[in-house]
Amino acid sequence: MSRYWETDKQYSQPTVDELRRKAKASSSSAEKKKLKYEPIEPFSRQKICTSWWGQAWCANLERYADYESRLGRGKRYVKAGTVIDLKIKKGKVEARVQGTRKTPYKVEIRISPLSEKKCSAIIEKCSRRIENMEALIRGEFPDELRELFAGKDGLFPSPREISFNCSCPDWALMCKHVAAVMYGIGVRLDENPFYFFELRGIDADRFIKVALESKVEAMLSNADSITERVIDDADLTALFGVI
Ligand SMILES: [Zn+2]
Repeated sequence: MSRYWETDKQYSQPTVDELRRKAKASSSSAEKKKLKYEPIEPFSRQKICTSWWGQAWCANLERYADYESRLGRGKRYVKAGTVIDLKIKKGKVEARVQGTRKTPYKVEIRISPLSEKKCSAIIEKCSRRIENMEALIRGEFPDELRELFAGKDGLFPSPREISFNCSCPDWALMCKHVAAVMYGIGVRLDENPFYFFELRGIDADRFIKVALESKVEAMLSNADSITERVIDDADLTALFGVI
């Protein structure tokens, strides 16, 4: 007698071992084809990111409540090393994620470039303190600038400023592969926060140059006002005849 339920056809989530095995096979076949993949290596630490900016990136991602169901799986995927290639380019991310199918899925994430107004505001805030500039040059984000990067008008894209695409058949707007790549971006940012600039279409070297120049300008105009004050004092001395 035929059955309505075919229990042996039930879908199941692939195990971590299975995903890793497939990911390794895909990576070595890419190597044979001389393709340059930049993988997110598998890891077992609880938190995806260790720096404050990387953690802020993840927190920002988790604020998109709509995607909550896929985020957990995305986390599992990135930890398992399924993101076998992730390249951050100007305003976009191109990645390959190993799934259940033999061929990895292609993921593309596009992020709107930062407007000139927002960019100028960030430069202005960065250049207020020389310590901030020194930290940026060292490749770190100063903690003082937390709000600047993660705040409403900061470098983080809002959901409206991100679009993504995956070659898998998942109907969800953000599938687990895209979620894995989003976490993978966090891992990359942890290693090098300057990818934030790249993601928002900003040339980091130029950004630092402009910020340094405005810092120097501010210092020079400060120096001018000090000189004026000294002259004013001198005038007062003359006026009141005080030696
Ligand atoms: Zn997908």
